[in-house]
Amino acid sequence: MTEVIVIGGGPAGLSAALFTSKNDLDTTVFDTDKTWLHKAHLFNYLGIRSMDGDVFLERAREQATKDHGVELRKSEEVTDVKQGDSGFTVVTSDGEYEATYVVLATGANRDLAESLGCEFTDDVVDVDVTMETSVENAYATGAMVRAEEWQAVISAGDGAAAALNILTKEKGEHFHDFDTPADVDQIS
Ligand SMILES: Cc1cc2nc3c(=O)[nH]c(=O)nc-3n(C[C@H](O)[C@H](O)[C@H](O)COP(=O)(O)OP(=O)(O)OC[C@H]3O[C@@H](n4cnc5c(N)ncnc54)[C@H](O)[C@@H]3O)c2cc1C
Repeated sequence: MTEVIVIGGGPAGLSAALFTSKNDLDTTVFDTDKTWLHKAHLFNYLGIRSMDGDVFLERAREQATKDHGVELRKSEEVTDVKQGDSGFTVVTSDGEYEATYVVLATGANRDLAESLGCEFTDDVVDVDVTMETSVENAYATGAMVRAEEWQAVISAGDGAAAALNILTKEKGEHFHDFDTPADVDQIS
């Protein structure tokens, strides 16, 4: 069983996946590659002065997959997510997968959150600051949890928050993903 399945490979999903995979949770991302980043040029993402959205996406994918071991299944659409006794069954165009945690990161598309039974308020998915939905171990991130405040850096932050909460549950204590200059050789 995969520990974490992330549905959506934009900034929210890739950020969540990077954190969980970097910290040793088996993580798979399913993505149909329709991220809004394909239309964007970033001048407002802190630390990046000017970058085409496609370039940002390519770097983010490489960082998540090559540096930190995320499995990215591009063009595999998730058609349903069901909660069972021991986790989730994620149904895709190619098969079925089991996971302990699910992170919904499908942009403004809230269909899977609705079919999974997540509670909504005013048409957006209800989450707390950990990004967990009303369905235990199911998280919602990015555009689907806000009416209009849609920015890449907010989505990436949501993904990180969801991942840290998953890691906190798994490790049994508050988890911080802190690195120091001494760690550079291990990562680069
Ligand atoms: C024209 C334009 C310009 C923009 N300019 C900026 C800007 O300058 N600065 C900025 O910060 N933001 C900008 N944005 C907004 C920014 O791109 C979004 O806020 C950001 O991409 C949202 O990230 P996300 O991860 O929440 O969703 P998305 O980036 O939309 O990613 C969602 C991903 O989920 C996938 N997906 C959806 N359903 C499924 C499914 N069932 N199965 C598998 N995969 C699925 C989609 O294909 C997509 O790849 C712009 C947006 C647009 C449209």
